[in-house]
Amino acid sequence: MSSSVAELMDYDEVVERFEPVLGLEVHVELSTVSKMFCGCANAFGGEPNTRVCPTCLGLPGSLPVTNRVAVESAIRIGLALNCEIVRWCRFARKNYFYPDMPKNFQISQYDEPIAVNGRLDLVLDDGSIFEVGIERAHMEEDTGKSLHVGGATGRIHGAEYSLLDYNRAGVPLIEIVTKPVTGAGERAPEIARAYVTALRDLLRALDVSDVRMDQGSLRCDANVSLMPRGTAEFGTRTETKNVNSLRSVERAVRYEMRRQAAVLVSGGRVVQETRHFDEASGSTSPGRRKETAEDYRYFPEPDLVPIAPSPEWVDSLRATLPELPWQRRARVQAEWRLSDPELRDLVNVGALDLIDATVRAGADPGEARTWWVAYLAQQANARGVELAELPITPSDVATVISLVSAGELTNALARQVVDGVLAGEGAPDEVVAARGLRVMSDDSALTAAVDAALAAQPDIADKIRAGKVQAAGAIVGAVMRATKNKADAQRVRALVMERVASS
Ligand SMILES: [Zn+2]
Repeated sequence: MSSSVAELMDYDEVVERFEPVLGLEVHVELSTVSKMFCGCANAFGGEPNTRVCPTCLGLPGSLPVTNRVAVESAIRIGLALNCEIVRWCRFARKNYFYPDMPKNFQISQYDEPIAVNGRLDLVLDDGSIFEVGIERAHMEEDTGKSLHVGGATGRIHGAEYSLLDYNRAGVPLIEIVTKPVTGAGERAPEIARAYVTALRDLLRALDVSDVRMDQGSLRCDANVSLMPRGTAEFGTRTETKNVNSLRSVERAVRYEMRRQAAVLVSGGRVVQETRHFDEASGSTSPGRRKETAEDYRYFPEPDLVPIAPSPEWVDSLRATLPELPWQRRARVQAEWRLSDPELRDLVNVGALDLIDATVRAGADPGEARTWWVAYLAQQANARGVELAELPITPSDVATVISLVSAGELTNALARQVVDGVLAGEGAPDEVVAARGLRVMSDDSALTAAVDAALAAQPDIADKIRAGKVQAAGAIVGAVMRATKNKADAQRVRALVMERVASS
Protein backbone atom coordinates (compact mmCIF):
# COMPACT_ATOMS: atom_id res chain seq x y z
CA MET A 1 0.00 0.00 0.00
CA SER A 2 1.78 3.10 -1.13
CA SER A 3 0.32 6.28 0.24
CA SER A 4 0.50 9.48 -1.72
CA VAL A 5 3.25 11.83 -0.66
CA ALA A 6 2.05 13.95 2.25
CA GLU A 7 2.26 17.72 2.34
CA LEU A 8 4.82 18.87 4.89
CA MET A 9 5.17 22.25 6.56
CA ASP A 10 8.56 23.84 6.97
CA TYR A 11 9.76 22.89 10.47
CA ASP A 12 10.45 26.47 11.61
CA GLU A 13 6.92 27.42 10.72
CA VAL A 14 5.50 24.38 12.54
CA VAL A 15 7.10 25.37 15.83
CA GLU A 16 6.12 29.01 15.35
CA ARG A 17 2.46 28.12 14.98
CA PHE A 18 2.03 24.95 17.03
CA GLU A 19 3.01 23.41 20.34
CA PRO A 20 3.72 19.67 20.04
CA VAL A 21 2.55 17.17 22.66
CA LEU A 22 4.36 13.85 22.84
CA GLY A 23 3.45 10.58 24.47
CA LEU A 24 6.11 7.89 24.35
CA GLU A 25 5.38 4.22 24.93
CA VAL A 26 8.39 1.97 25.17
CA HIS A 27 8.19 -1.81 25.23
CA VAL A 28 11.18 -3.58 26.66
CA GLU A 29 11.68 -7.33 26.48
CA LEU A 30 13.13 -8.63 29.72
CA SER A 31 16.15 -10.90 29.52
CA THR A 32 14.76 -13.48 31.95
CA VAL A 33 15.74 -17.11 31.53
CA SER A 34 12.16 -18.22 30.88
CA LYS A 35 8.99 -16.65 29.48
CA MET A 36 6.41 -14.63 31.42
CA PHE A 37 3.91 -17.39 32.21
CA CYS A 38 5.59 -20.70 31.26
CA GLY A 39 8.96 -22.43 31.45
CA CYS A 40 9.92 -22.01 27.78
CA ALA A 41 13.32 -20.48 27.15
CA ASN A 42 13.39 -16.73 26.52
CA ALA A 43 16.00 -16.05 23.83
CA PHE A 44 16.19 -14.11 20.58
CA GLY A 45 15.73 -15.97 17.29
CA GLY A 46 16.21 -19.73 17.12
CA GLU A 47 14.61 -22.33 14.86
CA PRO A 48 10.97 -21.21 14.53
CA ASN A 49 8.43 -22.73 16.92
CA THR A 50 10.98 -24.66 18.97
CA ARG A 51 10.54 -22.63 22.18
CA VAL A 52 6.84 -23.21 22.71
CA CYS A 53 4.59 -25.22 25.02
CA PRO A 54 0.84 -25.64 25.58
CA THR A 55 0.71 -22.50 27.77
CA CYS A 56 2.31 -20.04 25.37
CA LEU A 57 0.44 -21.67 22.46
CA GLY A 58 -2.84 -21.19 24.33
CA LEU A 59 -3.82 -24.88 24.13
CA PRO A 60 -6.89 -26.03 26.11
CA GLY A 61 -6.27 -26.92 29.74
CA SER A 62 -2.97 -25.06 30.06
CA LEU A 63 -2.55 -22.60 32.90
CA PRO A 64 -0.13 -19.67 33.26
CA VAL A 65 2.22 -19.17 36.22
CA THR A 66 3.79 -15.72 36.72
CA ASN A 67 7.57 -15.45 36.40
CA ARG A 68 8.87 -14.08 39.71
CA VAL A 69 12.03 -12.60 38.19
CA ALA A 70 9.94 -10.68 35.65
CA VAL A 71 7.89 -9.16 38.48
CA GLU A 72 11.10 -8.26 40.31
CA SER A 73 12.46 -6.63 37.15
CA ALA A 74 9.22 -4.65 36.77
CA ILE A 75 9.51 -3.42 40.36
CA ARG A 76 13.19 -2.50 39.94
CA ILE A 77 12.39 -0.59 36.73
CA GLY A 78 9.56 1.20 38.54
CA LEU A 79 11.83 2.13 41.44
CA ALA A 80 14.58 3.38 39.12
CA LEU A 81 11.99 5.57 37.38
CA ASN A 82 10.98 7.08 40.74
CA CYS A 83 7.58 5.40 40.49
CA GLU A 84 5.30 4.41 43.28
CA ILE A 85 5.06 0.60 43.49
CA VAL A 86 1.44 -0.30 44.12
CA ARG A 87 0.47 -2.53 47.04
CA TRP A 88 -1.80 -4.68 44.90
CA CYS A 89 -2.27 -5.17 41.19
CA ARG A 90 -3.70 -7.61 38.70
CA PHE A 91 -3.29 -8.86 35.19
CA ALA A 92 -6.03 -8.34 32.64
CA ARG A 93 -6.99 -9.98 29.37
CA LYS A 94 -6.80 -7.78 26.32
CA ASN A 95 -8.98 -9.52 23.77
CA TYR A 96 -8.34 -9.35 20.06
CA PHE A 97 -7.49 -11.64 17.19
CA TYR A 98 -4.20 -11.53 15.42
CA PRO A 99 -2.44 -14.55 13.91
CA ASP A 100 0.74 -13.97 15.92
CA MET A 101 -1.23 -14.33 19.15
CA PRO A 102 -2.43 -17.93 19.52
CA LYS A 103 -4.56 -17.39 22.64
CA ASN A 104 -6.64 -14.63 21.00
CA PHE A 105 -5.91 -12.50 24.01
CA GLN A 106 -2.83 -10.92 25.48
CA ILE A 107 -2.21 -11.04 29.21
CA SER A 108 -1.40 -7.46 30.16
CA GLN A 109 -2.09 -4.97 32.88
CA TYR A 110 -4.85 -2.49 32.18
CA ASP A 111 -6.19 -0.28 34.98
CA GLU A 112 -4.02 -1.84 37.69
CA PRO A 113 -0.37 -1.45 36.67
CA ILE A 114 2.44 -2.36 39.06
CA ALA A 115 4.25 1.02 38.96
CA VAL A 116 2.78 4.51 38.58
CA ASN A 117 3.63 8.17 38.68
CA GLY A 118 7.38 8.42 38.14
CA ARG A 119 9.91 10.70 36.51
CA LEU A 120 12.95 10.51 34.26
CA ASP A 121 15.34 13.44 33.84
CA LEU A 122 16.95 13.80 30.43
CA VAL A 123 20.25 15.49 29.69
CA LEU A 124 19.86 17.29 26.36
CA ASP A 125 22.62 17.94 23.83
CA ASP A 126 23.34 21.38 25.32
CA GLY A 127 23.61 19.93 28.82
CA SER A 128 20.24 21.23 30.05
CA ILE A 129 17.87 18.96 31.95
CA PHE A 130 14.33 18.15 30.79
CA GLU A 131 11.99 16.25 33.08
CA VAL A 132 9.62 13.68 31.63
CA GLY A 133 6.78 12.37 33.78
CA ILE A 134 6.18 8.63 33.81
CA GLU A 135 2.51 7.65 33.85
CA ARG A 136 3.00 3.95 34.46
CA ALA A 137 5.07 0.85 33.91
CA HIS A 138 3.16 -2.38 33.50
CA MET A 139 3.82 -6.03 32.79
CA GLU A 140 2.60 -7.98 29.78
CA GLU A 141 3.61 -10.71 27.39
CA ASP A 142 5.00 -10.34 23.88
CA THR A 143 3.30 -11.77 20.81
CA GLY A 144 4.79 -14.13 18.24
CA LYS A 145 6.13 -12.95 14.92
CA SER A 146 4.60 -13.02 11.46
CA LEU A 147 6.91 -13.43 8.50
CA HIS A 148 5.33 -12.15 5.30
CA VAL A 149 6.90 -13.86 2.30
CA GLY A 150 7.00 -12.91 -1.36
CA GLY A 151 6.49 -9.16 -1.18
CA ALA A 152 9.07 -6.47 -1.76
CA THR A 153 8.75 -4.77 1.61
CA GLY A 154 8.37 -7.66 4.07
CA ARG A 155 5.01 -6.15 5.02
CA ILE A 156 1.77 -8.06 4.61
CA HIS A 157 0.74 -5.96 1.64
CA GLY A 158 1.97 -7.64 -1.51
CA ALA A 159 3.02 -10.80 0.30
CA GLU A 160 2.13 -14.20 -1.22
CA TYR A 161 1.81 -15.96 2.12
CA SER A 162 2.73 -15.56 5.77
CA LEU A 163 4.54 -17.80 8.24
CA LEU A 164 4.21 -17.69 12.01
CA ASP A 165 6.87 -18.14 14.66
CA TYR A 166 5.65 -18.37 18.25
CA ASN A 167 9.09 -18.43 19.91
CA ARG A 168 8.54 -14.85 21.04
CA ALA A 169 4.95 -15.45 22.22
CA GLY A 170 4.91 -15.06 25.99
CA VAL A 171 8.28 -13.32 26.35
CA PRO A 172 8.04 -10.90 29.33
CA LEU A 173 7.52 -7.28 28.38
CA ILE A 174 7.42 -4.13 30.41
CA GLU A 175 5.58 -1.23 28.83
CA ILE A 176 6.65 2.18 30.09
CA VAL A 177 4.31 5.06 29.27
CA THR A 178 5.09 8.75 29.71
CA LYS A 179 2.65 11.38 30.84
CA PRO A 180 1.90 13.87 28.04
CA VAL A 181 5.16 15.66 27.32
CA THR A 182 4.43 19.37 26.88
CA GLY A 183 6.69 22.40 26.73
CA ALA A 184 9.16 20.67 24.43
CA GLY A 185 8.55 23.13 21.59
CA GLU A 186 11.05 22.95 18.77
CA ARG A 187 13.11 20.46 20.76
CA ALA A 188 10.37 17.80 20.73
CA PRO A 189 12.20 15.50 18.27
CA GLU A 190 15.46 15.80 20.25
CA ILE A 191 13.59 15.21 23.52
CA ALA A 192 11.94 12.08 22.13
CA ARG A 193 15.36 10.70 21.18
CA ALA A 194 16.91 11.77 24.48
CA TYR A 195 14.10 10.05 26.39
CA VAL A 196 14.55 6.71 24.64
CA THR A 197 18.32 7.04 25.03
CA ALA A 198 18.03 7.74 28.76
CA LEU A 199 15.58 4.90 29.23
CA ARG A 200 17.83 2.52 27.30
CA ASP A 201 20.84 3.50 29.44
CA LEU A 202 18.80 3.05 32.60
CA LEU A 203 17.53 -0.40 31.58
CA ARG A 204 21.04 -1.41 30.62
CA ALA A 205 22.38 -0.30 34.01
CA LEU A 206 19.62 -2.33 35.69
CA ASP A 207 20.68 -5.34 33.60
CA VAL A 208 17.06 -6.34 32.97
CA SER A 209 17.22 -6.38 29.16
CA ASP A 210 19.75 -6.38 26.37
CA VAL A 211 17.92 -3.26 25.01
CA ARG A 212 18.73 -4.11 21.38
CA MET A 213 16.52 -1.82 19.31
CA ASP A 214 17.70 -3.59 16.14
CA GLN A 215 16.40 -6.92 17.52
CA GLY A 216 13.19 -5.45 18.89
CA SER A 217 14.00 -5.91 22.56
CA LEU A 218 13.46 -2.16 22.93
CA ARG A 219 10.67 -0.67 20.81
CA CYS A 220 9.23 2.80 20.86
CA ASP A 221 5.76 3.96 19.86
CA ALA A 222 5.69 7.74 19.44
CA ASN A 223 2.40 9.56 19.96
CA VAL A 224 2.42 13.04 18.49
CA SER A 225 -0.22 15.75 18.40
CA LEU A 226 -0.19 19.49 17.84
CA MET A 227 -2.08 22.32 19.45
CA PRO A 228 -2.11 25.84 18.03
CA ARG A 229 0.06 28.16 20.10
CA GLY A 230 -1.99 29.99 22.70
CA THR A 231 -4.47 27.15 23.13
CA ALA A 232 -4.44 24.48 25.80
CA GLU A 233 -6.52 21.64 24.39
CA PHE A 234 -4.56 18.69 23.02
CA GLY A 235 -5.02 17.93 19.34
CA THR A 236 -5.78 14.52 17.83
CA ARG A 237 -2.74 12.29 18.04
CA THR A 238 -1.21 9.68 15.83
CA GLU A 239 0.87 6.78 17.11
CA THR A 240 3.89 5.83 15.04
CA LYS A 241 4.57 2.20 15.94
CA ASN A 242 7.74 0.23 16.60
CA VAL A 243 10.31 2.82 15.67
CA ASN A 244 13.52 0.84 15.91
CA SER A 245 16.45 3.18 16.28
CA LEU A 246 17.18 6.29 18.32
CA ARG A 247 17.67 8.38 15.21
CA SER A 248 14.38 7.13 13.78
CA VAL A 249 12.51 8.22 16.92
CA GLU A 250 13.74 11.76 16.32
CA ARG A 251 12.97 11.65 12.59
CA ALA A 252 9.50 10.15 13.07
CA VAL A 253 8.46 12.85 15.56
CA ARG A 254 9.76 15.62 13.32
CA TYR A 255 8.00 14.15 10.29
CA GLU A 256 4.66 13.79 12.11
CA MET A 257 4.87 17.37 13.38
CA ARG A 258 5.43 18.66 9.84
CA ARG A 259 2.73 16.44 8.33
CA GLN A 260 0.06 17.20 10.94
CA ALA A 261 0.76 20.92 10.75
CA ALA A 262 0.20 20.86 7.00
CA VAL A 263 -3.06 18.96 7.48
CA LEU A 264 -4.28 21.40 10.13
CA VAL A 265 -3.49 24.62 8.27
CA SER A 266 -5.20 23.34 5.13
CA GLY A 267 -8.40 22.96 7.16
CA GLY A 268 -8.14 19.17 7.44
CA ARG A 269 -8.44 16.91 10.45
CA VAL A 270 -5.70 14.71 11.84
CA VAL A 271 -6.99 11.12 11.88
CA GLN A 272 -6.43 9.16 15.08
CA GLU A 273 -4.56 6.16 13.78
CA THR A 274 -1.39 4.14 14.05
CA ARG A 275 1.31 4.88 11.53
CA HIS A 276 4.41 3.09 10.27
CA PHE A 277 7.78 4.78 10.01
CA ASP A 278 9.75 4.02 6.86
CA GLU A 279 13.50 4.20 7.49
CA ALA A 280 14.43 4.69 3.85
CA SER A 281 12.15 7.65 3.10
CA GLY A 282 12.00 9.02 6.65
CA SER A 283 8.23 9.28 6.33
CA THR A 284 5.25 7.72 8.09
CA SER A 285 2.30 6.02 6.44
CA PRO A 286 -1.16 5.18 7.80
CA GLY A 287 -1.71 1.89 9.61
CA ARG A 288 -5.01 1.05 11.25
CA ARG A 289 -7.59 3.33 12.78
CA LYS A 290 -6.85 3.42 16.48
CA GLU A 291 -9.01 1.20 18.64
CA THR A 292 -10.32 2.40 21.97
CA ALA A 293 -9.94 0.51 25.22
CA GLU A 294 -13.57 -0.65 25.00
CA ASP A 295 -12.78 -2.51 21.80
CA TYR A 296 -10.49 -4.86 23.71
CA ARG A 297 -13.07 -5.98 26.29
CA TYR A 298 -10.51 -5.97 29.08
CA PHE A 299 -11.37 -8.06 32.12
CA PRO A 300 -9.30 -9.33 35.06
CA GLU A 301 -7.29 -12.44 34.12
CA PRO A 302 -9.07 -15.29 35.93
CA ASP A 303 -6.16 -17.76 35.72
CA LEU A 304 -3.66 -15.67 37.67
CA VAL A 305 -3.59 -14.53 41.28
CA PRO A 306 -3.17 -10.80 41.93
CA ILE A 307 0.29 -9.51 42.79
CA ALA A 308 0.70 -7.80 46.15
CA PRO A 309 4.34 -6.81 46.64
CA SER A 310 5.09 -6.47 50.35
CA PRO A 311 6.99 -3.35 51.46
CA GLU A 312 9.81 -5.66 52.61
CA TRP A 313 10.08 -7.21 49.16
CA VAL A 314 10.09 -3.79 47.49
CA ASP A 315 12.74 -2.54 49.94
CA SER A 316 14.94 -5.55 49.29
CA LEU A 317 14.67 -4.90 45.55
CA ARG A 318 15.45 -1.21 46.07
CA ALA A 319 18.67 -2.34 47.74
CA THR A 320 19.66 -4.20 44.54
CA LEU A 321 19.53 -1.08 42.38
CA PRO A 322 22.95 -0.40 40.87
CA GLU A 323 24.46 3.03 40.43
CA LEU A 324 22.03 4.66 37.99
CA PRO A 325 23.20 6.68 34.97
CA TRP A 326 22.58 10.11 36.51
CA GLN A 327 24.25 9.06 39.77
CA ARG A 328 27.22 7.85 37.74
CA ARG A 329 27.40 11.13 35.81
CA ALA A 330 27.44 13.13 39.04
CA ARG A 331 30.07 10.90 40.61
CA VAL A 332 32.51 10.86 37.69
CA GLN A 333 32.12 14.58 37.17
CA ALA A 334 33.24 15.15 40.75
CA GLU A 335 35.94 12.46 40.74
CA TRP A 336 37.46 13.44 37.42
CA ARG A 337 36.89 17.18 37.96
CA LEU A 338 35.06 17.66 34.66
CA SER A 339 33.36 20.86 33.56
CA ASP A 340 29.76 20.56 32.35
CA PRO A 341 30.80 20.76 28.66
CA GLU A 342 33.53 18.14 29.19
CA LEU A 343 31.04 15.80 30.83
CA ARG A 344 28.47 16.44 28.09
CA ASP A 345 31.02 15.61 25.38
CA LEU A 346 31.86 12.29 27.05
CA VAL A 347 28.17 11.44 27.37
CA ASN A 348 27.45 12.43 23.77
CA VAL A 349 30.14 10.18 22.31
CA GLY A 350 28.94 7.34 24.53
CA ALA A 351 32.30 7.19 26.33
CA LEU A 352 31.30 7.73 29.94
CA ASP A 353 30.58 4.13 30.95
CA LEU A 354 33.57 2.87 28.97
CA ILE A 355 35.95 5.32 30.64
CA ASP A 356 34.47 4.58 34.04
CA ALA A 357 34.94 0.84 33.50
CA THR A 358 38.52 1.47 32.28
CA VAL A 359 39.27 3.48 35.42
CA ARG A 360 37.76 0.75 37.58
CA ALA A 361 40.09 -1.69 35.81
CA GLY A 362 42.97 0.33 37.23
CA ALA A 363 43.69 3.03 34.66
CA ASP A 364 44.33 6.71 35.28
CA PRO A 365 41.15 8.72 34.44
CA GLY A 366 43.02 11.16 32.19
CA GLU A 367 44.69 8.38 30.20
CA ALA A 368 41.41 6.47 29.94
CA ARG A 369 39.62 9.57 28.66
CA THR A 370 42.30 10.28 26.09
CA TRP A 371 42.16 6.76 24.65
CA TRP A 372 38.38 6.59 24.37
CA VAL A 373 37.60 10.09 23.10
CA ALA A 374 40.58 10.39 20.76
CA TYR A 375 42.09 7.28 19.17
CA LEU A 376 39.22 4.86 19.82
CA ALA A 377 36.55 7.40 18.86
CA GLN A 378 38.40 7.85 15.54
CA GLN A 379 38.42 4.08 15.02
CA ALA A 380 34.70 3.85 15.79
CA ASN A 381 34.02 6.71 13.40
CA ALA A 382 36.05 5.08 10.64
CA ARG A 383 34.08 1.85 11.07
CA GLY A 384 30.74 3.62 11.36
CA VAL A 385 29.94 1.97 14.72
CA GLU A 386 29.21 3.17 18.23
CA LEU A 387 32.17 3.38 20.57
CA ALA A 388 30.71 0.59 22.72
CA GLU A 389 30.54 -1.69 19.69
CA LEU A 390 34.29 -1.64 19.07
CA PRO A 391 35.74 -5.10 19.71
CA ILE A 392 37.90 -3.91 22.61
CA THR A 393 37.01 -3.98 26.29
CA PRO A 394 37.71 -1.37 28.98
CA SER A 395 40.01 -3.90 30.65
CA ASP A 396 41.99 -4.26 27.38
CA VAL A 397 42.41 -0.49 27.29
CA ALA A 398 43.46 -0.47 30.96
CA THR A 399 46.08 -3.13 30.17
CA VAL A 400 47.49 -1.06 27.31
CA ILE A 401 47.64 2.02 29.54
CA SER A 402 49.49 0.07 32.25
CA LEU A 403 52.01 -1.24 29.70
CA VAL A 404 52.70 2.35 28.59
CA SER A 405 53.11 3.62 32.13
CA ALA A 406 55.43 0.70 32.94
CA GLY A 407 57.60 1.81 30.02
CA GLU A 408 57.00 -1.43 28.13
CA LEU A 409 55.15 0.31 25.30
CA THR A 410 55.53 3.73 23.72
CA ASN A 411 52.38 5.55 22.69
CA ALA A 412 53.05 4.63 19.08
CA LEU A 413 53.47 0.95 19.99
CA ALA A 414 50.38 1.13 22.18
CA ARG A 415 48.31 2.26 19.18
CA GLN A 416 49.60 -0.75 17.26
CA VAL A 417 48.57 -3.01 20.13
CA VAL A 418 45.10 -1.48 20.11
CA ASP A 419 44.93 -1.94 16.34
CA GLY A 420 45.77 -5.62 16.86
CA VAL A 421 43.05 -6.05 19.47
CA LEU A 422 40.54 -4.32 17.17
CA ALA A 423 41.63 -6.64 14.34
CA GLY A 424 40.74 -9.64 16.47
CA GLU A 425 44.31 -10.73 17.17
CA GLY A 426 43.57 -11.35 20.84
CA ALA A 427 44.18 -9.62 24.15
CA PRO A 428 46.82 -6.87 24.41
CA ASP A 429 49.47 -9.23 25.83
CA GLU A 430 48.90 -11.66 22.97
CA VAL A 431 49.17 -8.86 20.39
CA VAL A 432 52.40 -7.59 22.00
CA ALA A 433 53.89 -11.09 21.86
CA ALA A 434 52.64 -11.97 18.37
CA ARG A 435 53.66 -8.67 16.78
CA GLY A 436 56.86 -8.31 18.82
CA LEU A 437 55.86 -4.85 19.98
CA ARG A 438 57.63 -4.55 23.31
CA VAL A 439 59.73 -1.41 23.62
CA MET A 440 63.52 -1.76 23.15
CA SER A 441 64.98 -1.43 26.61
CA ASP A 442 68.38 -2.80 25.67
CA ASP A 443 70.65 0.27 25.80
CA SER A 444 73.50 -1.37 23.91
CA ALA A 445 71.25 -2.05 20.91
CA LEU A 446 69.83 1.47 21.12
CA THR A 447 73.32 2.98 21.41
CA ALA A 448 74.39 1.09 18.31
CA ALA A 449 71.36 2.43 16.44
CA VAL A 450 72.15 5.99 17.60
CA ASP A 451 75.80 5.67 16.52
CA ALA A 452 74.74 4.35 13.11
CA ALA A 453 72.35 7.27 12.62
CA LEU A 454 74.97 9.82 13.70
CA ALA A 455 77.48 8.28 11.31
CA ALA A 456 74.99 8.52 8.43
CA GLN A 457 74.44 12.26 9.06
CA PRO A 458 77.82 13.52 10.33
CA ASP A 459 76.87 17.22 10.16
CA ILE A 460 74.18 16.78 12.82
CA ALA A 461 76.64 16.12 15.64
CA ASP A 462 78.45 19.39 14.77
CA LYS A 463 75.17 21.30 14.83
CA ILE A 464 74.27 19.90 18.23
CA ARG A 465 77.72 20.77 19.58
CA ALA A 466 77.21 24.29 18.16
CA GLY A 467 74.09 24.60 20.31
CA LYS A 468 71.39 23.68 17.78
CA VAL A 469 69.91 21.08 20.08
CA GLN A 470 66.76 20.69 18.01
CA ALA A 471 68.89 19.12 15.26
CA ALA A 472 68.91 15.97 17.43
CA GLY A 473 65.35 15.43 16.23
CA ALA A 474 66.62 14.14 12.89
CA ILE A 475 68.70 11.45 14.64
CA VAL A 476 65.85 10.51 16.98
CA GLY A 477 63.57 10.19 13.94
CA ALA A 478 66.10 8.01 12.11
CA VAL A 479 66.50 5.73 15.15
CA MET A 480 62.74 5.46 15.57
CA ARG A 481 62.42 4.43 11.92
CA ALA A 482 65.27 1.96 12.21
CA THR A 483 63.68 0.37 15.28
CA LYS A 484 60.17 0.43 13.79
CA ASN A 485 59.05 2.76 16.59
CA LYS A 486 59.96 0.25 19.26
CA ALA A 487 62.37 2.64 20.93
CA ASP A 488 61.40 5.11 23.60
CA ALA A 489 61.96 8.47 21.89
CA GLN A 490 62.96 10.23 25.11
CA ARG A 491 65.55 7.60 25.90
CA VAL A 492 66.88 7.86 22.33
CA ARG A 493 67.16 11.64 22.64
CA ALA A 494 69.13 11.25 25.87
CA LEU A 495 71.46 8.75 24.22
CA VAL A 496 72.00 11.07 21.23
CA MET A 497 73.09 13.89 23.56
CA GLU A 498 75.35 11.51 25.49
CA ARG A 499 77.05 10.13 22.37
CA VAL A 500 77.55 13.60 20.85
CA ALA A 501 79.03 14.90 24.10
CA SER A 502 81.39 11.96 24.48
CA SER A 503 82.58 11.80 20.85
ZN1 LIG B 1 5.77 -21.89 26.74
